[in-house]
Amino acid sequence: MDRAAAASLDLVIPIYNEERVLPVLLERLDEVFAPEVLAANRISRVRYRFVDDGSRDHSAAIIAGHTGHPGRVVLYRLSRNFGHPNAVSVGLDHATGDTVAVLDADLQDPPELVLEMLARWREGVDVVFAQRRKRKEGAVKRAGYWAFYRLVSLLSDLDIPLDSGDFCLMDRRVVDAMRSLPERLRFPRILRSWVGFEQAGIEYDRPPHR
Ligand code: UDP
Ligand code: MG
Repeated sequence: MDRAAAASLDLVIPIYNEERVLPVLLERLDEVFAPEVLAANRISRVRYRFVDDGSRDHSAAIIAGHTGHPGRVVLYRLSRNFGHPNAVSVGLDHATGDTVAVLDADLQDPPELVLEMLARWREGVDVVFAQRRKRKEGAVKRAGYWAFYRLVSLLSDLDIPLDSGDFCLMDRRVVDAMRSLPERLRFPRILRSWVGFEQAGIEYDRPPHR
């Protein structure tokens, strides 16, 4: 497609017991993607595709009851807790936008960065992923990430940047390519590296979760 033209945007947001942060997140999304911002960024429409990964709290009710900009919120509810990668996969299966972003619900992935990612997409980048300037997690978690990515890169020859997670914006073609793979157990951030296309990171400081 012509990337200078108006483009639609899907936000895939997995949630598991996020009732505390969801009101803040919804308000922030409505602010960051206010109608005038959509116009200024040539976004034809935006959808918040929440995937409720078997929450046991009021997360689903809060989303269903949100009265912000009309027609934006879509809620998928999984029958139990399947884990973050599976929840993201479900969102990607339903996303129809020209561009699709993936972000966490707990505001560790600042929504305003999606606009910056979209600008890079307009320049021709197909996968714009967020790179943490410094991981704030503890040493044990960092070591876990390191070991996991080392294993993946040993097994697959894939070089996945250590300091990136799921937070990204992808072109429609990338999502279609990921969905066309036969994997049943899918790790979106790994498949995203696997499928190729033009990929680039943008740096950010990951805030602590809310
Ligand atoms: N999440 C999910 N299913 C789970 C665990 C987490 O959908 O089983 C969601 C969670 O609500 C959040 C995102 O996935 O939006 C990232 O989770 P978390 O903040 O716990 O991960 P971390 O920041 O530690 O990487
Ligand atoms: Mg988090």
